[in-house]
Amino acid sequence: MSHYSLGYWQDKAANLQIEGRAFIDGHYLPAADGQTFQCISPIDGSTLTQVASCGPADADLAVASARRAFEAGVWSRMAPAARKAVMIRFAELIDQHAEELALLETLDMGKPISDALYVDVALAAQALRWNGEAIDKVYDEVAPTPHDQLGLVTREPVGVVAAIVPWNFPLMMASWKLGPALATGNSIILKPSEKSPLTAIRVAQLAVDAGIPKGVLNVLPGYGHTVGKALALHMDVETLVFTGSTRVAKQLMVYAGESNMKRIWLEAGGKSPNIVFADAPNLAEAAESAAAAIAFNQGEVCTAGSRLLVERGVKESFLPLLLEALAQWKPGHPLDPETKVGALVDSQQLDTVLKYIEAGHAQGAKLLAGGKRTLEETGGVFVQPTVFDGVSNAMKIAQEEIFGPVLSVIEFDTFDEAIAIANDTPYGLAAAVWTSDIGKAHRAAKALRAGSVWVNQYDGGDMTAPFGGFKQSGNGRDKSLHAFDKYTELKATWIKL
Ligand code: NAD
Repeated sequence: MSHYSLGYWQDKAANLQIEGRAFIDGHYLPAADGQTFQCISPIDGSTLTQVASCGPADADLAVASARRAFEAGVWSRMAPAARKAVMIRFAELIDQHAEELALLETLDMGKPISDALYVDVALAAQALRWNGEAIDKVYDEVAPTPHDQLGLVTREPVGVVAAIVPWNFPLMMASWKLGPALATGNSIILKPSEKSPLTAIRVAQLAVDAGIPKGVLNVLPGYGHTVGKALALHMDVETLVFTGSTRVAKQLMVYAGESNMKRIWLEAGGKSPNIVFADAPNLAEAAESAAAAIAFNQGEVCTAGSRLLVERGVKESFLPLLLEALAQWKPGHPLDPETKVGALVDSQQLDTVLKYIEAGHAQGAKLLAGGKRTLEETGGVFVQPTVFDGVSNAMKIAQEEIFGPVLSVIEFDTFDEAIAIANDTPYGLAAAVWTSDIGKAHRAAKALRAGSVWVNQYDGGDMTAPFGGFKQSGNGRDKSLHAFDKYTELKATWIKL
């Protein structure tokens, strides 16, 4: 039995000290021009703190600090085994501060506290640890040269990296960048979303406490169009890594072209198909999984299973199972450890989700569950997990990323039709298939244009496999050793013997 309760977390929240300043060159600082913005909790509309609203001047300071640290070699030329030890200490400090970090995450962006604790914070520490542990085990190459030559193929850190991240898994998305960027010896400027800056600000101090030299990790809270843009256009940032919407991802490519052709790696949106064939091994399990795939994290998940493709022959029996499973996902107080669905990130996101629900009605989809704002009396922004049946893949709710708990059920008859519908999207982040036929599972996995394919499960994966998208879901990969490609340049050195 866990000792956690709503009261436990509320007490802790009442006594929480919240840091809202930027972290530059090893110190907490206000924005250069003194600007701040209000950090509002979507749980109840209360103001948590004022946060530094950084701009181009802060970007210049942070990039200069990162550059100095990089050139000094205090981190970039540290022995990999020594960097490993520091990163493992960093992960341990995150684990030791897990409750505080989870609480910050929940207050800041509304997700259930149990998810914040056991998913976000735990996996953030894991990402840092995994990358740290890996870095003294990867080798460079010797090329198959003629006898009188020695060709060395080595990896070098790129230098100064800017990481711009979203609000749905704030610390975890940041750690997928920090892990490989730090492990490979780079200096970083992290820009968290203006909707969820608090954990990034807090862990900057933990990084220094762990032994990461000052200047190696800087954190600049602020808006995308101010400090985000300044970093993306900066002439002394070598690599920009991003997780966020496809719209902003495209803009960042323009900024890179307009400035120094910085390397740019994008993890963007998704509209992932979850395909239930009539021969699924267990329809009840598929239904539970489909409910979780749209309701977990309030549907604010890049890989949300937002298009549920169901074979006509089993739809009648499948839908009641789905609705029964979804009933378990009721919005509740995000600080209650039993809560499975929390608040949306803010009222703007609530408006977006409600507009898509209206569009579903307007285009003739049939509402089966949810469809409304809920718990309004709390002052928070909550929406009911929602299911539309009778959706055609051309409808707005099937084509556009909603980033909320709104599921579109689409019927199909044949394998080829299912694959065609699944791939008829600008995105290509993830897909799932449910079938007992191993040949069919493999054929589907090959035919689906997506970076991750799950068979008889939804959302499998850990640090060992790459994660990222085809098409307009992005380029490059987070996680696994493949992530090192984003943070290193390859060098060929030719020695005449
Ligand atoms: P967003 O694109 O609105 O913002 C992401 C970040 O970009 C924020 O820090 C924001 O301040 C910044 N930004 C905005 N405009 C900018 C500009 N002009 N210049 C520089 N920076 C700018 O995305 P969001 O709403 O925070 O996050 C939701 C999106 O993230 C969804 O589309 C989701 O699919 C995607 N996402 C993708 C993955 C993945 O791994 N593929 C993971 C999580 C989230």
